[in-house]
Amino acid sequence: MAPSVGILGERDQGQDVRTNNVTAVMAIANIVKSSLGPQGLDKMLVDEVGDVTITNDGATILRQLEVQHPAAKVIVELSQLQDKEVGDGTTSVVILAAELLKRANELIKNKVHPTNIITGFKIAAKEACNYIKEHLALSVEQLGREALINAAKTSMSSKLIGPESNLFSSIVVDAVETIKMTNLLGETKYPIKNVKIVKSHGQSTLQSQLIKGYVLQTQRADQQMKTRIEKAKIALLDFNLNKFRLQMGIQILVNDPKNLEKIRFKECEILKERCKKIIDAGANVIVTSAGMDDVATKYLVEAGVLGIRRVDKHDLRRIAKASGATVVTTLATPEGDEVFESSYLGECAEVYEEAVGDNDCIFFKGMKRSNCASIIIRGANEFMCEEVDRSLHDSLCVVKRTLESGYVVPGGGAVEIALSIKLEDFARTLGNKEQTAVAEFCEALNIIPKVLAANAAQDATELVSKLRALHAASQSSDDPTKKELKNCGLDLCLGKVRNNVKAGVLEPMVSKIKSLRFATEAAITILRIDDMIKLNPQQE
Ligand code: ADP
Repeated sequence: MAPSVGILGERDQGQDVRTNNVTAVMAIANIVKSSLGPQGLDKMLVDEVGDVTITNDGATILRQLEVQHPAAKVIVELSQLQDKEVGDGTTSVVILAAELLKRANELIKNKVHPTNIITGFKIAAKEACNYIKEHLALSVEQLGREALINAAKTSMSSKLIGPESNLFSSIVVDAVETIKMTNLLGETKYPIKNVKIVKSHGQSTLQSQLIKGYVLQTQRADQQMKTRIEKAKIALLDFNLNKFRLQMGIQILVNDPKNLEKIRFKECEILKERCKKIIDAGANVIVTSAGMDDVATKYLVEAGVLGIRRVDKHDLRRIAKASGATVVTTLATPEGDEVFESSYLGECAEVYEEAVGDNDCIFFKGMKRSNCASIIIRGANEFMCEEVDRSLHDSLCVVKRTLESGYVVPGGGAVEIALSIKLEDFARTLGNKEQTAVAEFCEALNIIPKVLAANAAQDATELVSKLRALHAASQSSDDPTKKELKNCGLDLCLGKVRNNVKAGVLEPMVSKIKSLRFATEAAITILRIDDMIKLNPQQE
């Protein structure tokens, strides 16, 4: 139902609202534009309490901004969606959506109806995605492990860890290959959540390492406990091992001090009894999500058990899954007894404590059920470790997507230019009102190589023209050597054009397809708006 006049605040209509929206979206895109590509620059974001984030990741930059404008919020959400679905390509998607909108707004000013533009953009996006799948995609199976390493390197190239991409790309590819699993439907999956990231500042980033096992950044509950347990049987407890306490609100009047002592003794006895039940079931490593007091640790030391306390529940669940353990929330049975069964225990080859920099870490290696991997990130300071973490997350997602979809495409503007040329030809075959919209879509795609070149201080117009000429030659010829030109992209260091497959600049195919789809959808969402009504809360 349309709001009654009484509750209307401000109202913008028609071209005004569209121009406002496009301006807001362009403002957002301009913020992230300079961070696109391997030569892109970083942003330093300072929040209201003075915390600093230095990053190059589009999604992180936009997440930290307090965006007010509703259309700009759609674009911020777009980059979050790309981050969630693909993990990379968050800057490109925003720049492309803004360019599409800018061009659509110009068309509307020239009296093309928004509905025709929307239909045209949809047709162009569909055609583009099909072309990528049929003509530009390269099989990872044929290219081998090198393709995975190169895809990881490409995603890192724009980040702080770009110079160390040799080390990090092999860490990332090994980590993703380690966590390979088959789900109930028989599909091969690479759950990135199974890669634990541990950050420890001090030393250089080159000291970062992959551990084929699970690492917890914590230490033993008591220094007298063993530092290494082999053939570990792990009990995972989602409750504390503290002295038994009566429930809140229960009052006991004690007149004789001896009785008080007896109560204290009994409290310890109940705790000891609990520990004993777990140890008798065979546990030699006990991990709790809550506390573990002196009485419990003393008892565990005597029994030669390694105790670890205050472990995050998320970590408990991961260890449980990998070791085959059950996370126990209480020992109590419905009958009122307390029981711990040996079937609740998980197994792994060894659990040990070792210092990593200034921090102690507990390592779980040789998990019984499924493999997990941990990456220990080292770096000069906390900002560095945080940015390495974000960059590794993007690269892990890229390798996962590449392995799951099995295809990559050349980067450095190769796909965008190939699509632009293809869609130009396609637009000419359309004899309807959507033709101009499809033609503008082709033009909009050029923005990615243009920004890449501009950020690398190269001549964008010249480079893009060269690329277009090569791709046009590739598409119009049947000669196999000319066909190879479809892999041509930008060499941003030398300001030239090169075969980016041979140069190892590769991106996952899904990343490109999704960013095209998401950018088109976001542009369409904003284009459809021709009336903005701000409701007046006082009169509501
Ligand atoms: P996003 O957040 O969109 O992933 P990036 O800053 O990571 O943005 O830049 C990605 C773009 O940079 C892609 O278009 C990719 O093809 C391009 N790119 C990455 N590495 C290179 C390289 N070595 N040479 C040319 N282009 C590159």
